[in-house]
Order: sequence, then C-alpha cells, then structure tokens
Amino acid sequence: SLTLDEPQQTSQKVKSKNLDVLAEHAKAGRKNAASFVVIGHVDHGKSTLMGRLLYDLKVVDQRSLDKYRKEATSIGKSSFALAWVMDSTAEERERGVTVDIATNNFETEKTKFTILDAPGHRDFIPNMIAGASQADFAVLVIDAGTNSFEAGLKGQTREHAQLVRSMGVQRIIVAINKMDSINWAQDRFEEIQQQISAFLTTTGFQSKNIAFIPCSGLTGENVVTPAPEKAAAWYTKTSSPQTLVQALEAHEPTKAALSSPLRIPISDIFRGGVQNPLSISGRIEAGSCQVGDSLIAMPANESCSIKGIEIDNAPADWAVAGQIVTLHLTEIDPVHLRIADLLCDARKPVPNIRSFTTKILAFEHVLPMTVDVHRGRMHVPGRIASMVCVLDKSTGNVLKKKPRVVQPGSVARVTVELDTAVPLEVPGRIVLRSGGNTVAAGLLEEVHA
Ligand code: GDP
Repeated sequence: SLTLDEPQQTSQKVKSKNLDVLAEHAKAGRKNAASFVVIGHVDHGKSTLMGRLLYDLKVVDQRSLDKYRKEATSIGKSSFALAWVMDSTAEERERGVTVDIATNNFETEKTKFTILDAPGHRDFIPNMIAGASQADFAVLVIDAGTNSFEAGLKGQTREHAQLVRSMGVQRIIVAINKMDSINWAQDRFEEIQQQISAFLTTTGFQSKNIAFIPCSGLTGENVVTPAPEKAAAWYTKTSSPQTLVQALEAHEPTKAALSSPLRIPISDIFRGGVQNPLSISGRIEAGSCQVGDSLIAMPANESCSIKGIEIDNAPADWAVAGQIVTLHLTEIDPVHLRIADLLCDARKPVPNIRSFTTKILAFEHVLPMTVDVHRGRMHVPGRIASMVCVLDKSTGNVLKKKPRVVQPGSVARVTVELDTAVPLEVPGRIVLRSGGNTVAAGLLEEVHA
C-alpha cells in the first residue's frame, strides 16, 4: 500500500467541456503571440533597433539604459548603448523589470512577441538559424546610408534573407534603417525598396508578404513613435503600417496554423507539484487544445491527457497556436517525457520516422557524412545517405543529379538517415550540424518510417 510521502498518481482524466476552441478564440480577443528573427548585415543597426523598440515600449527603463551606456563606454563603444539592452542579465529581472529580456519576450497592446535570437552575439549565424527554424516572420534591417546598403546587399543581407526563406519563413518586414543619416530622402528609400523588393521576390518571398518601414533605431522615428511629418511628409500620410511596431503587430497566426492538429514541442518539464505532479511548458506550434483533450507524446508514443492549462500563470480552458502554455498532464508516467519531445493531437500524432528527404541550403561542403539533425530543441544523430541533386536557387530546377559534393551557398536535395526514430513531419524545418558547425538548413520534403 502507498505511504503518505510517495507521490500520488493523479490518473483521473478531466472531463472536457467540448468547447469550439476556434470560435472561443475568435471572440476572446486574447493577445496574439508571434516570434521573429532579426537579420541583416553587421552594423546595419539590428541591436540598436531592437534596443530602441524595447526602450520605447518601456520594457527597459532609463536606469538600465544608463547602466548599459556606462558599460559600453567603459569598453570604448558608447554608441552601442542601446544595443546592450539586448545583452541584459538576470539582475534586471530581479529588479522587477516586467518583461523577461533574457528570453527576449515583450508585449504590446495587441501581441506578445518573442525575439528568437539576440543580434550582436558573436556566433550570430548559428543563433539565427536556430531562431529562423521557429520564426513566424523575419525583420530585415538595412542601413539606408550611402554605400552601406550596397555593401550589405553583397554581404549578409543577401545571405540572411536566403537563409530565412530556405528555412520556411514566408513573411518579412524590411526596416530601412538610419533614415536620419540620409535626411529622410524619399528617393533613396524608394530606390532601396525597389531593389530589395526585386531581390526578395527572386528569393521566393511573395510581394504581399513583404512590408517596408523607413525608420531610425538611433533616434527612434517610426519604431514605436511615428516620424514627425516635417521629417517625412512623403511617407507618413499614406502609409499603413507606419511604424515598425505596427508592422510587427500585423502578424496573425494563419487559419491553417490554428486548424491543424496540435503540436507542442516541450521546452520545460516540472515534476512533483502537489496539485499538479506533472506539468510541461512550451509554445503551441500548431493547432489548439482544451482541458480534457487526449494527447500523444512522441517519440515515446504514450498517451496522456490535459488536466489543466495555464497561460501567464492564470488558468485557461483552452489555448491556440502561437501561445506559450503550461499544461498539467495526467495518465502518463513522467519517464516518457523529455525536453524537446513533441505533444500531439492523439487523433493525428506525428509518427516517428527513420529517414527523410530534404531541400537544403548548404553553408559548408555537404557530402555523405554524419550529421546531427536539429529541429527546434530536438536533435538526433544521423547521416547524409544520398545526394539527390543540386537545384537552381531561384527556379528550383535540377542543375545536377547525384553530385559528389554540394558547395557552400548551393541549394540541394539530399536524404538523411537517422540513428534513432523521431517525430518529424513535412514541411518541418531542420538544421544539419557537424562537429559544432552548422552545415546546412533545410525543409523536409518527404519522410519515411
Ligand atoms: P548591428 O551590428 O546590426 O547590431 O548594428 P548596431 O546596432 O550595433 O549598430 C551599428 C552602428 O550603427 C552603431 O554605431 C550605431 O550607433 C549605429 N546606428 C544604429 N542605428 C542607427 C540609426 O538609426 N541611425 C544612425 N545614424 N546610426 C545608427
């Protein structure tokens, strides 16, 4: 028989209210949630722009900003003060800043945002890839200054835009930054807009998914506060969205994302609570759920059910794609759950697969080799088993069949075999790494049991 200090098994399934969750969502007016990645050439002002955004949204206060400025000055980089906002530490959180900057979460009136990487960090590309593999959209920062734009287009502007597109990001907000440095010149803005537009559409972005915002991260125009009319009369009168924050808020989860089967990658597991002996947290990638729902945890292939849902520490009856939730689970032994596992709709779980075909963008030479396959926080060892073909970047036509090696910067189709079966489905975004380096990023095209 049980002694008192043994954990109690809460095995009772909670009865479902059988809500029409999408209808509830439509009328609830809950905040949307969205995540994005910030890309662009070095020094085009990514960190400053994000710092300005957080400062003007009052996510960071003047005192913290002064502190960053001091620290920045002490290493001879005073102009980076705003940029340092992005690197803030646990101290700020302890002092009760309302938003957790360390994980880069902030919210506006309409939306809760997650910035999926901290620009300015040294190993930017790997961070960005991890971020891009989960991003709802990208913010591309471009320095409008003479020559800088052109230099960027030869450099990381091009590379980053291709990267996020190849990772499945469909929507992009182009912040044409440092407009203060060119006196808000309309013709310059339009010239850049036209060139970037042409480039992005050949990269595979649809024009309806591209927005342009002229702004200045340093002085703050059109970030949160609209630019005064005298600075940019040509822009302010007709433009919607006008500011960066309005463009960010324009993102809403698609109907498709809401109505697909539930997918929640587990980012944390909590055990031993008195009321709730087993809880997980994570961001709902697709679908919706409600209390009482049956789920399947993969790769364990074990069923469980939702006993309770919390959003922002408050109980909720339901949750939808984009939201970050805590789920209290019952009817499962905790040994079956690990961080990075996937909780799925029990009627339509993601099967474990042993191999897949993927369209990759290569960052290094790709040849038959061992790789670690990453999807979000999940990773599993495997190997590139066959080199199918090299593809034309813009048309997708086959350039060469069965290449022996794929050159960095090229797009190719390869098949990968996994050492252990894991839940992956089309059109998942994956990253291939080897020896600590990112070798390629790709989109799944076919999966095999
Ligand atoms: P990152 O490498 O893209 O993150 O760029 P930073 O944010 O570190 O900025 C690079 C440099 O550009 C710094 O010296 C900034 O002060 C400067 N800068 C950033 N935004 C602006 C802007 O809107 N206007 C002007 N004039 N300078 C800016």
